[in-house]
Amino acid sequence: MTLLENKKIAIIGGGPAGLMLARLLQIENGDVSVYERDADREVRVQGATLDLHEGTGLKALKRAGLLDEFYKHHRPVASKMRLTDGKLNIAFDDHNFATITAETRPEIDRAPLRDILLNSLKPGTVVWNSHFVSMEKEKSGWRVHFKNGTNIYADLVIAADGANSKVRPYLSDIKPVYSGITLIEGNIYNAEKYTPNLFAFAKGGKVMAFDDEQFIGYGTKGDGSIMFVVNFKTPEEWLSKSGIDFANREQVLEWFKTAFPAWSDEWHEFFTNEGVHFIPRPQYYFPFDQTWETQECLTMIGDAAHRMPPYAGEGANVALRDAFELAENLTGNQFQDLKTAIAHFEKEMVVRGAQATKDTLENSERMFSKTGLEQMLAFFNQVKEAHNV
Ligand SMILES: Cc1cc2nc3c(=O)[nH]c(=O)nc-3n(C[C@H](O)[C@H](O)[C@H](O)COP(=O)(O)OP(=O)(O)OC[C@H]3O[C@@H](n4cnc5c(N)ncnc54)[C@H](O)[C@@H]3O)c2cc1C
Repeated sequence: MTLLENKKIAIIGGGPAGLMLARLLQIENGDVSVYERDADREVRVQGATLDLHEGTGLKALKRAGLLDEFYKHHRPVASKMRLTDGKLNIAFDDHNFATITAETRPEIDRAPLRDILLNSLKPGTVVWNSHFVSMEKEKSGWRVHFKNGTNIYADLVIAADGANSKVRPYLSDIKPVYSGITLIEGNIYNAEKYTPNLFAFAKGGKVMAFDDEQFIGYGTKGDGSIMFVVNFKTPEEWLSKSGIDFANREQVLEWFKTAFPAWSDEWHEFFTNEGVHFIPRPQYYFPFDQTWETQECLTMIGDAAHRMPPYAGEGANVALRDAFELAENLTGNQFQDLKTAIAHFEKEMVVRGAQATKDTLENSERMFSKTGLEQMLAFFNQVKEAHNV
């Protein structure tokens, strides 16, 4: 722990990356606080069910001593996949098999994952309602300012504030590249009531539908909600020029009917129910060869460092890996000073982030091609064969 001796560490952002890092540093007696913009821990957690991978997400949980907790809350049925075309004709159905194709990558909803991480931290570690706005150099660290008017001093700041990080510009001015794909995320609580047909169709698992170079994916969650994503190729300016009011579901439905002409009316249930909330998300990634000058009192992890489209299911996994690699670099004995430890971490992280970004962009090519469904079908059949199911 010598590098962090008497150092105050401020992690900005309490997503998977920030909370995991806090846990791992606390295990080594680090003096760490997490500053999170959410008002409190009860604020509804939206977002996808996550599948965690060997070597990244699962390894992080193991190092954090939280693997047993994870397996108490993971949801095997969430891995069950139905692959369809735009008219919900089923091409592949995991529900036909006793073994789940992707169970090697166990799934957990975000809310229980966040709870597991929060419950593992010392009381008071997360300072809620702390929306980072700016910081300036002070002594050998930073004076950090939040929207609520408060400020703190930290010797080491770690940006874990996600894809639109406000801390990242203090390290790098490299701008993200638009991937050519925009997605509309929709969240529906009490989905059985609001979208009974699509809810029943998923059978508690996931549905991935491909048609006409477009993709809709959705999954049901343990709290009875559905998250869906409507993904399509479009120019970067589409969102600003579309004029769609995403709080107005009639407008979103009208757009969907025009933009997804090959898709059947069954999908309209997602747009016509009064429980739905939409979030448009143009998909960006950082250049593969990004570099920045290492600082001794600032670094970044997770989406802040390597945002990417979600088509390989890697984002949260590499974010969790960043957490354990950084913790190891900071608390092990292999480096003489903080700057060298951070430089070593950043060099490897950029390579890992770039590899995951390449994977997701390659998957995008497949998923948004004319033969998206066939290619995904071949992929799942291969996995089945490999598992001898
Ligand atoms: C639709 C969709 C589906 C996805 N599916 C998957 C998947 O299946 N598998 C997978 O591995 N990944 C998936 N991802 C990617 C995954 O969500 C991210 O890679 C992951 O959440 C990154 O973790 P993080 O902790 O770096 O950032 P985040 O999860 O974004 O957490 C950042 C935290 O910082 C807080 N914050 C933001 N700004 C500030 C501020 N100014 N001050 C203080 N706090 C702030 C936020 O409130 C949040 O709590 C998906 C993403 C999307 C959009």
